[in-house]
Amino acid sequence: MKITDNTVASIHYIVLNEDREDIDASDENEPLRILIGHHQLIPGLEQALIGREAGEKFEVEVEPAQAYGEYNPALCQEVSLDLFEGQDIQPGMQFRATTDHGEQSVIVTEVNDDVAVVDGNHPLSGMTLIFKVDIVDVRFATDSEIDHGHVH
Ligand code: ZN
Repeated sequence: MKITDNTVASIHYIVLNEDREDIDASDENEPLRILIGHHQLIPGLEQALIGREAGEKFEVEVEPAQAYGEYNPALCQEVSLDLFEGQDIQPGMQFRATTDHGEQSVIVTEVNDDVAVVDGNHPLSGMTLIFKVDIVDVRFATDSEIDHGHVH
């Protein structure tokens, strides 16, 4: 059967950047299971899956706009270290933060004398991504999966 909205696709995948370096992959022993048509995947990958069947292997290149979005410099902010109440702040630390753009996950990119620079962009924003996909299984979603919007 073909992948359509309201099917559950099980896939193995590898994500590469434009230089074809590995960024991420599914668990070797446990394919990723996705309820199709419920925004569980980036749009570019979901589109590429539609109409395919179990057993197919393919590669697709996805532009930032169809992946994790363009990099938005406005999501970088300087935050006074006073606000961290004496915590030892280092580049690479991640926080949930309330920003000008609402609650989001931010990463500390820089620490100066009295300010930290935090970046609220998704770490993969602005990147063209290449997915190598192996479709393991396709089945109809159950009514309750469709109801809940996720795989059981
Ligand atoms: Zn549920």
